[in-house]
Amino acid sequence: MVDFSIYDIKEPEVYAYKCPDCGTIYYPAPMVCSKCSCRRDPSGVIFSSWEQVAMGGKCRLLTWTRVYNLPEGFDVKYLLFGIVEFENGLRASGRLLVDEPETGMELEAKVGVIKEIVGEDVHGFMFHAPE
Ligand SMILES: [Zn+2]
Repeated sequence: MVDFSIYDIKEPEVYAYKCPDCGTIYYPAPMVCSKCSCRRDPSGVIFSSWEQVAMGGKCRLLTWTRVYNLPEGFDVKYLLFGIVEFENGLRASGRLLVDEPETGMELEAKVGVIKEIVGEDVHGFMFHAPE
C-alpha cells in the first residue's frame, strides 16, 4: 500500500476556466477561446472574466507510465504518472499514487506538493484510489 500520510495533501487549488460566451471549459486556460474566439482578460477590465471551476474529485485513468530516470534528490526507484479525465471531460496529468494502475480505473484527484524546491513548494495533481 502507498502511505499517503507522507504527502502533504490539501484542498483542490487548481482551477479550470469557463468561457463566458460558449461555456467551454479549459485547463490550462488559453487567452482566447478556440471555439468562439472570446478573449480572456485575467484583470477582468477589458473583457469579462472567465469563471473559475475547481478541479479535483472523481476521475478516470486514461493512461499511465512509470518513470525510472528521476532527477537527483528522489529516493525512490520510479514514479508513476497518469493522465486522467474528469467528469466534466477535462483531462489533466499528475502523480499516480496507486500500487497497480489499470487503464480505466476510477480515481480521485487531490492537489499536493509534487516537487519541493528550496524555499518553494510546487503544487500539482495527485491521483489515488477513491477512499
Ligand atoms: Zn468560447
